[in-house]
Amino acid sequence: MTRWPLSRLSTPGRACARIMLTCLLLAAAAVAKADIPELALTAAESQLLGNSLVHVVDSSASLNASDIAGGRVQPDWQPASGETPNLGLVREPVWFAAWLESPRDLERLLVIAYPPLDHLDLSLWHQGQLVQRFATGDRLPFDSRPIEHRHFVFPLQFKAGERYLLLLRVETTGSVQLPASLWEPSRYVEETQHGLLLQALFIGIMLALAAYHLLLYFAVRDVAYLWYVVFLGTFLMAQVSLRGLGLQYLWPDNPAFNHQAIPLFFSVGFAVVCIFTDRFLDAKRYSPGWSRALRGLAGIGAAIALCGLVLPYSAILIAILAGSTLGSVLIFIGSCHLWARGSTLAPIFVLAWSLFLAGNILFNLSKLGVLPSSTFTEYLPQVGTVLQMLLLSFALAYRINLERARREEAQQRNLAMQREANEVLESRVAERTEALELAYDQLKVLSQLDSLTQLKNRAYFDEVLAKEWSRHARESRSLALLLIDADHFKRINDTRGHLCGDECLRVIAALCQEQVQRSSDLVCRYGGEELVVLLPGTDTEGALAVAEAIRQAIAGANFQWQGEAVPLTASIGVAACVPNPDLAADALLRQADEALYAAKGGGRNCTMVYNANP
Ligand code: GH3
Ligand code: MG
Ligand code: MG
Repeated sequence: MTRWPLSRLSTPGRACARIMLTCLLLAAAAVAKADIPELALTAAESQLLGNSLVHVVDSSASLNASDIAGGRVQPDWQPASGETPNLGLVREPVWFAAWLESPRDLERLLVIAYPPLDHLDLSLWHQGQLVQRFATGDRLPFDSRPIEHRHFVFPLQFKAGERYLLLLRVETTGSVQLPASLWEPSRYVEETQHGLLLQALFIGIMLALAAYHLLLYFAVRDVAYLWYVVFLGTFLMAQVSLRGLGLQYLWPDNPAFNHQAIPLFFSVGFAVVCIFTDRFLDAKRYSPGWSRALRGLAGIGAAIALCGLVLPYSAILIAILAGSTLGSVLIFIGSCHLWARGSTLAPIFVLAWSLFLAGNILFNLSKLGVLPSSTFTEYLPQVGTVLQMLLLSFALAYRINLERARREEAQQRNLAMQREANEVLESRVAERTEALELAYDQLKVLSQLDSLTQLKNRAYFDEVLAKEWSRHARESRSLALLLIDADHFKRINDTRGHLCGDECLRVIAALCQEQVQRSSDLVCRYGGEELVVLLPGTDTEGALAVAEAIRQAIAGANFQWQGEAVPLTASIGVAACVPNPDLAADALLRQADEALYAAKGGGRNCTMVYNANP
């Protein structure tokens, strides 16, 4: 650029030159006005405005619209960077401007599809005069909007051939984004329905999933389902606030809450998702370290939520964006790690989380101004979320299967253990029963035995006699009975003592036992010094022979007690008959007793046969 050699001019010349320089500078300033681009409005249904908007950051907050429109101040306008101006986090007011010119009379809706802007002042100027003005923003009640819509929608009128200056002042504690476009009104009504339908679809899917899993929680009582519901709920609320639907439908008169809603739901959602991941992947079991890390992250999320109540919005927003981006990556790495450690549901979780992560990282980067904002980045988190939620829902259902398989396995194990225990118990019971039976048999034998003579006792004899009596009655066979009584036994006891008497009884018993031949013959101690011999299938003659043999054996026994011979004799009563089934077995005993009585009466040491007709 050529420099004017002012020093060479005369004083009046210098003054003249100074005036000329000033005029040149003013002209240059006038050229800056032309920096505001001009957009020719067309008959098209919609026109993007972003490309045509220049902006300036009003660092001292000193600019006002009428000064700019009247040309009294010349801000240092910066050119547009893309379709959607995105300056990231800027605390100071930002001014946007564009010239609009219409070839004919037109009515247009200016739409700014970014609901979280705190304050938004729009003014339309014609030849330095204010034509239209709107002041709204999500820090103001919902009815401050000229058209009640979740986005900022301003109805503007343009006259044919006129040139208008559009000025927009944005002041927000969040991200400064201005997805601005101009719409033919009826076309926008149609278009906005599609957007609303997508939102409604998203909300519907989330609500249905939440309701379904809440019911599942009540049925299954697994806390992972409850955390999933809370996760869905907070994420849904975060999206509803972010999309402006919260202020429109849920808390229209509470802009102060609306201001806190986004950071609150995002940070709580972040805390909840960490706990959900911990529970869902059973992190404690597979990697206690990651489980602690996840719970630590949840703590950070909760802390941010609490700080959001007191700290400035922009600081919290940075904390949330940075925290959730870092946290999301950590959750991803953690779930990959748990996958490697064998957590069954980790693969599905990693896939689901990848979809969610992709959507949200792009979204967060666009909010931080690193990536340009577009319709694509706006809806990506929601699409990612729905896919993620559906996959997680599938995984939760799969989890029921896993749990059932685990339970069945445990049941099988229990059953096997029970069966084994039963078998052990049964074998023990069998052993004990056998032992008891043995003891019982032994007891029975003992109870049938006479301890002194080792012969069967009277009780046993009575039993056998009754059976043989009826058997012989059936078979019409003769049954014989001998009743043997030691002679003068009292005397032996009295003279030689009871021990001697006992030994005598043992000797007599052994002799009787020796003399009976058949295995079916039975010798018993009947009582005192009396023995009884039952001879099945034997008639009187046979019985007499056995009785005589016994008597002679006793009489011939050379029994010694303390070196002295003790003479032994016995009297025997014999009875035999074919039993009459109408009579009791006692009949035979009575007959033998009668015969014995006769033998005693007959001088002892003799055998007498019962005679029915004496
Ligand atoms: P009898 O020739 O008339 O049969 O005379 P007895 O003395 O044998 O008959 P008695 O009925 O008067 O006496 C039977 C005796 O047998 C009385 C009793 O002390 C004795 N006695 C009974 N049982 C036993 C026993 O188990 N051991 C001993 N040592 N004596 C017994
Ligand atoms: Mg007697
Ligand atoms: Mg006797």
